[in-house]
Amino acid sequence: MTTHDTSKASVLDTIGETPLVELDAAPGAVPVYAKAETFNPGGSVKDRIGKHILEGLLDRGEVEPGGTIVEPTAGNTGIALAIAATQLDLDAIFVVPDGFSVEKERLMAALGAEIDHISGDGGMAAATERAHEIADTFDNAVVPQQFATPLNVEAHYHTTGPEILDALDGEVGAIVIGIGSGGTLTGIVRAVREQVPDVHVVAVEPEGSTFGSLLGDDREEGPYKIEGIGTHDPDVTELLEPAEIDEFLPVSDRDAHAEVQRLATAEGHLVGSSSGAASVAARQVAEEIAADERDAPFDTVVTVFPDGGERYLSKNIYGSFEEWEEKS
Ligand code: PMP
Repeated sequence: MTTHDTSKASVLDTIGETPLVELDAAPGAVPVYAKAETFNPGGSVKDRIGKHILEGLLDRGEVEPGGTIVEPTAGNTGIALAIAATQLDLDAIFVVPDGFSVEKERLMAALGAEIDHISGDGGMAAATERAHEIADTFDNAVVPQQFATPLNVEAHYHTTGPEILDALDGEVGAIVIGIGSGGTLTGIVRAVREQVPDVHVVAVEPEGSTFGSLLGDDREEGPYKIEGIGTHDPDVTELLEPAEIDEFLPVSDRDAHAEVQRLATAEGHLVGSSSGAASVAARQVAEEIAADERDAPFDTVVTVFPDGGERYLSKNIYGSFEEWEEKS
C-alpha cells in the first residue's frame, strides 16, 4: 500500500493513500467524508485502475513489454493508463469520442499517448468497437476495457476501500458514489461489506441517465452535462452489482453545478461536476440518516471526489450555470 513518508522509486508508487476530508456542510450528527482523489499524480481516481490494470495485464501475459494498449476513454482513464504505460514500457492509443473536455485530451497527449477521434454519436459502444479494430492491427496489443475487466473493481477493493475503512476505524454507515463504469463503487462496497455487512449503498447518476432502471426505477432518458458518470445504456458496464445497491439517486446538472461552486467558495475544494453530484447526494443521504428516514449501521457517510475542477476550465465550470450548460 502506498504511504507518503518515504521516497519513491516511481510515480506509480505515489498513487493512492489520498486524504479523506470531512465536509463542512453536513449535519453534525452524521458527518460526510470525501475521498479527495485529486491527490493522485494524474489528478483523478482513475490512476488507481491505470496502474492495477496494466500491471495485471502484463502479469497475465495479455500484453508483453514493448506492446500497445488501446482504450476507448473520455479522459481520466486515458490519463491514468498513459501514466502507467510510461513506467511499464507500453505504448498507448486512446479512442476519444467528441464532446469531452479538451484538458484531458491534452494531458493524454502530453504523456505520449496517441489520440484517435471519433464522433460522440455512437457513444462508448462505437468507441469500443474502434479500439478493437485498432488493436487488431498490432501483434502485441490489448484493449484493457475498463467497463468489463474485473481488474478495475479489484483496484478499489485492494486500495480505496481499505483506506476508507482504516481512516474511519471501520465505522462506515453509508457509501454514496457516482457511477460511470461502476468500478469505484463496486470495489469499495466489496471491501467495506467484509467489515460492515449492512452498509447502506447509494449509487449517484445524473438526471437523464438511466442506470436506475436496473433496479426497476422509472427513468426518462435525457441530456446531461455532468462528466464522468451516467449512461443512456444501463448495460454498458459489466461491473455493477445491482443487488449490492440500495438506491440509484439522480442529481440534476443545476444542483451539481451549484455544489461545485459552493465546494470551491465555501470549502476550498476544486473539483469536477461528478464530485459536485456526489456531494449533493451524500449530504442528502446524511440528512436523511440524521432524520431517521434511512437506516445505516453507523452515523457516517463516505463519498468520492473523482477529479479536479481545473480539468474543466475550458467548459466554464466556474461560470454561471447557463455559461457551463451552453459550452459544448
Ligand atoms: N467521475 C469522473 C470525473 C470520472 O472520470 C469517472 C470515470 N468515468 C467517474 C466519476 C466514475 O468512476 P467509475 O468509472 O469507477 O464508476
